[in-house]
Amino acid sequence: MDMTSAVRSALAAAPERRAKIVCTLGPACASPAGIRELIAAGMDVARLNCAHGDASWRAAITTEVRQAAAELGREVAVLLDLAGPKIRTGGLAGAERLALAAGSTVTLMASATAGSADTNSVITTSHDLASAVSPGDVILLSDGLIELRVAAVAGGAITCQVINGGELAGHQGVNLPGARLPIPAMTAQDMADLHAGLAAGVDFVALSFVQSAADVDLLRQAILDWAAAHPEAPGAAATAIIPKLEKPSAITELDAILSRSNGVMVARGDLGVELPPEQVPVLQKRIIRAARRHHIPVITATQMLESMTAHPRPTRAEATDVANAVWDGSDALMLSGETASGQYPNAAVRMMARIITEAEGAHQEDFEPRRRRREDGTPHSIPETIAAAVATAARELPMAAIAVYTQGGETARQVAAFRPPCPIYALAAEPRVRRRLGLYWGVTPVASPEMATTDEMLGRAERQLLDHALVQPGQVLAIVAGVPFGISGHTNLMRLVRVGE
Ligand code: PEP
Repeated sequence: MDMTSAVRSALAAAPERRAKIVCTLGPACASPAGIRELIAAGMDVARLNCAHGDASWRAAITTEVRQAAAELGREVAVLLDLAGPKIRTGGLAGAERLALAAGSTVTLMASATAGSADTNSVITTSHDLASAVSPGDVILLSDGLIELRVAAVAGGAITCQVINGGELAGHQGVNLPGARLPIPAMTAQDMADLHAGLAAGVDFVALSFVQSAADVDLLRQAILDWAAAHPEAPGAAATAIIPKLEKPSAITELDAILSRSNGVMVARGDLGVELPPEQVPVLQKRIIRAARRHHIPVITATQMLESMTAHPRPTRAEATDVANAVWDGSDALMLSGETASGQYPNAAVRMMARIITEAEGAHQEDFEPRRRRREDGTPHSIPETIAAAVATAARELPMAAIAVYTQGGETARQVAAFRPPCPIYALAAEPRVRRRLGLYWGVTPVASPEMATTDEMLGRAERQLLDHALVQPGQVLAIVAGVPFGISGHTNLMRLVRVGE
């Protein structure tokens, strides 16, 4: 597709919706036709979860997402989700499930110590947890459904009493609520998955179970090291990092983590196991508010339309949850099993898009807190001031659209952070930058060549939007850019024009 037709279809596909949709890909949708359907239904970002599939599958799917997006004239980013230090039980020798009765006693041991789990109530774990627990601590298995209490720790064996029983299948998640895991933030498998993902050209890397700001630094360094060793992959060094917040220790270091990140995910699944479920709604709001303060995009994830894995309609509670996540200020909402393995992947995306659109249409100003200055009182930079000013102007005037020339995506990110009430068209030359912008609230990425002069830039933005009937003669269009051109994060110009004059 040439640049003119790409621009035409990107603009024609500009959604009315401002919050974006992240879809997890899996067997239910991961075919060329399935991916095309998801994009047509509204997928903005494709998530590849490293807990499933292998690196060659993920590389093939990344290529398919790129192809499908190009065919449809859309920018769709790929988010690689690293499993991080996720602890799992081992396989079950001689049984499909192990019945754990309340009141009984089980022993947990690292698989290297114990061999495989057996029916004598020895459960193996992927990591040695003996140093991380003490008598009285709680250990949760299978998404928190099975609860154990540590009775004694001796020689690598953790003896536990079963508090809430259940049937344990093989390879289930193990959570130690509140404990700092005695495991590196990135395992050898994460490193291998990261390298394969960078080679495939993913746009975002999410890391599960981040516990501290140092974990984000570790991932950043790993990306930089790989990029330095692979000059044939230009742009890899700028791969965006999204920590998944699901550990209590991450919440205590929230600001330090966010200040090093390019986005963040409220990973409500494990968050609600690591912490009591009743704390999840409050933490969701706290994390979203903090991300907004840092002007980075925030994804609210997990169980948003869970019942649509098996049914064509969501519950009323799920519809309300999606709308509330929009009103909380999420940039994007995520679907997991609904699209990866559910029976109605496209219907789930369309339903999510409809709920978002309806929520955004409902007196948005009543729900959306305006951000004018920093809560800590520090002054805005020049780019932030321009972004705040254009959002204010969009509220004062009836403004039809904001055209943002953006080199590395920074300017568009800043404008989106102030939540202007009109569409934001981000004009960027780099495909990698345009894909990343697909995650940002209210931003429609548009291909645009590098401009030589301010006059050329102003004229071209107006013509492009007018040609595609996105603005009408006489309406106000804002154009935001940095001059001289070619320097990322250098925004210093806002021009308001009446279209056609
Ligand atoms: C979560 O726990 O909410 C989450 C998004 O992570 P995962 O899907 O990897 O469990």
